[in-house]
Amino acid sequence: MVLCTEIVNVIKSPITYLDVALPTALPNVLTYRWSESEKPPSVGMRVVVPLGNRRLTGVVWNVHNNDPAGYIPKNIEAVVDDRPVVTQEQIACWTWISQYYMCPLGDVVNTAMPSGMKLESKTRILINPDADLNVELLDTSLQLLDALQARGGMDVKEISEVLNLKYPQRIIRTLIDKGLAISEEELKEKYKQKTKAFISLHEELINDVEALKSELDKAEKQTPAQARMLIKYLEMASDGSSVSKVKLQKLSASTSATTNKLIEKKIFNIEHRAVDRVQKFIGKIEPLPTLSLAQTQAYDSLRKSLVERKPALLNGVTGSGKTEIYVHLIAEALQAGKQVLFLVPEIALTTQLITRLQKFFGDKVKVYHSRFKSNERTETWLKVLDDKKGSLVVGARSALFIPFRNLGLIIVDEEHETSYKQHDPSPRYHARDVILWMAAKGSVPCVLGSATPSVEMVWASQQNRIKKVDLKERYSGVMMPEVLVADLKKEYKQRSIRGGFSKLLRDQMDLVLKANKQIILFQNRRGYAPSWHCDTCGDTVMCERCDIPLVVHKRLKGLHCHHCGYHVTPIPTKCGACGSHSVNAKGLGTEKIEEELAELFPNARVGRMDLDTTRSKHAHAKLLEDFSNKQFDILVGTQMVSKGLDFEDVALVGVMSADKMLTFPNFRSFEKAFQMLTQVAGRSGRANERGIVVVQTFSPDHWVIQKVVDGDHEKLVANELIERKSYLYPPFVRLIRISLKHTDSKRVKVGAEVLSKRLRQRFGERVVGPDTPYLSRVNDLFRLEILLKFERELSPAKYKKMLDEDLDDFITDPRFKRLRFKVDVDPV
Ligand code: ADP
Ligand code: ZN
Ligand code: ZN
Repeated sequence: MVLCTEIVNVIKSPITYLDVALPTALPNVLTYRWSESEKPPSVGMRVVVPLGNRRLTGVVWNVHNNDPAGYIPKNIEAVVDDRPVVTQEQIACWTWISQYYMCPLGDVVNTAMPSGMKLESKTRILINPDADLNVELLDTSLQLLDALQARGGMDVKEISEVLNLKYPQRIIRTLIDKGLAISEEELKEKYKQKTKAFISLHEELINDVEALKSELDKAEKQTPAQARMLIKYLEMASDGSSVSKVKLQKLSASTSATTNKLIEKKIFNIEHRAVDRVQKFIGKIEPLPTLSLAQTQAYDSLRKSLVERKPALLNGVTGSGKTEIYVHLIAEALQAGKQVLFLVPEIALTTQLITRLQKFFGDKVKVYHSRFKSNERTETWLKVLDDKKGSLVVGARSALFIPFRNLGLIIVDEEHETSYKQHDPSPRYHARDVILWMAAKGSVPCVLGSATPSVEMVWASQQNRIKKVDLKERYSGVMMPEVLVADLKKEYKQRSIRGGFSKLLRDQMDLVLKANKQIILFQNRRGYAPSWHCDTCGDTVMCERCDIPLVVHKRLKGLHCHHCGYHVTPIPTKCGACGSHSVNAKGLGTEKIEEELAELFPNARVGRMDLDTTRSKHAHAKLLEDFSNKQFDILVGTQMVSKGLDFEDVALVGVMSADKMLTFPNFRSFEKAFQMLTQVAGRSGRANERGIVVVQTFSPDHWVIQKVVDGDHEKLVANELIERKSYLYPPFVRLIRISLKHTDSKRVKVGAEVLSKRLRQRFGERVVGPDTPYLSRVNDLFRLEILLKFERELSPAKYKKMLDEDLDDFITDPRFKRLRFKVDVDPV
């Protein structure tokens, strides 16, 4: 008897457990039990599992037999895939991101996968996973939000009970409209591939001419419509091959009823085939561009570095033809059957670049962008997963999450762009840095490119960790633009300024317009004016919820907050503080520039490009196209105009004001100002004449302005490195920023003090603050920040672990329960 049970114990196989990563803010994987007799799903497949009273789709991270300590695992409910859709490399990368950027693994999974791949549902209302829940709400809405959060989702009936409301639909709608909640149906948006129907002759008839003839005879007598369709079909495909159903119906002037009848009768076969949703490229593939001597030299050095698997940094001035060099590198990788990932900043993802690449690589070009529909992204995801021929994925930062299996080259264009860093929501990752990790891990050739490389990357090249390759001349001898500085202080004194335009800028504009050339005017402030001001008492109208002036919007006829959406309409005609009627717009926004231009240059045609004019889907592309077709002469815009654009006829770029960027309180502001000014300046003079740039400023002697005039990026970086070394900023230290927010300013202050004290006990002098950030209050939340500076020699894994412990203690402290806080590793 004893022996018997022993044998049974031995034979009974151990229980199989699956660690599953779920796309929700969980710090780690959860373990579930596999209780089916079949083989368990493999790592990388999706499964449906219960979590609380939710049902979620997650990714199998690990399969093992170790009983989890402390809890009884629930069962896996369903397996979604028959093969892994997430690769081992992705699993390693996402895990690294979650550790390095100190964020829940679930956040990474959530960001990484298109929503269509993550969901599973009934008709329930959920918290929108993408929502920022820091909004002001009425009581009932807030109650619902809390309940949804607590229960993880409810159906309408449950909501009605919880709110004690017979018809809670209106409240639900409010949350949905504000983007806070979402119906599970909508969220579901399960991956559905778009298909097209094809008709072919039924197998049994293909080789049986007699049978076909008799069917045809029968049809001609009894069902003329069917006969007509059959004859048309035989005309189109006499060999019985397949033709498009829609086309067949159209050509035979019949309907699907007829088609269905023929399918029923086993005369036709129907087949649904997947079709591409992303627009197919039509046109002729062009031969690769011939590189100039300088380009060839740069290309050779890059290649050499890539062969050694050392990341390379292509530092090529604007207009040097970096893209052409990339094109050659891409072609080589594709030829070898490899995949290529080409990352560009969000803003540069224009049709201009895509068309340029399609000219050389046709439909090998795939575009991946978080603004694309979820099903389109899912399609690209699966296509790249199954890709055998090699393809080129062009995308914004989130494209690094897709399942490449055969990467032969990664390009990060405009490496210095801060839009590579995700601010919100978590994971707050920096795409360039993740790419460098991926390249090192997978031994993938990697090229970073920029006209104004980041201080960090230049330093890395000095440390010999990456190879910097310089390309100092523009393509085909085009000269670098001449930068002129307009001294606003002097011109104000001389009273020569009109509507924000210096005489210097106006004169240059005159010349350019007379020569029938084009102008770009850059001002990084949208709206009519940055503030509404009283001349009598000096009062400025502030946002009620944020510590910032309201922006004047003439077209919207109101004062608006760009941070929380609060607005006042109509624009007040008298001062709220003193009652005076001398209230005025102060400063210069893009809307006002447009208005001033109508006065100063009544004959010039003006276009404006900022967030307000490009909200609709194709507005951005349309504006660029119109400008490039010379539909208008002057393009006014925010930083949107500075990137990814290449216009033949722009002879002048005007920077309306360089001062704000030079005074912004951030250790990177000089670097950013230089990059921004150089980038905008680079839009000028691409044709055969030397372009002109006019920079308007109150501090013409500022050293950064001087470096822009000299086009001396090297000197700028050298200066910055000295400053950053002495004030302890990156690249000499690594930063972690902790921000705390609460509606009660005292609570946030006490919290920040307690936390910083605790951190100081552990990290000493490395803790700076708490300090008030540039915006001390946003949306009624008061904010404080603590900055941590760690020496590069320290192991990030070690101090992050300690930091995690301290933060855990802190959030579990009941006094600070409702304090919101976020951790930003390597803030930019
Ligand atoms: P960058 O990205 O370095 O600022 P671009 O790649 O936009 O520069 O190149 C500037 C312009 O010069 C583009 O119009 C590009 O088509 C052209 N160009 C650069 N290199 C070549 C080349 N080898 N052959 C033909 N045209 C080129
Ligand atoms: Zn006043
Ligand atoms: Zn506000």
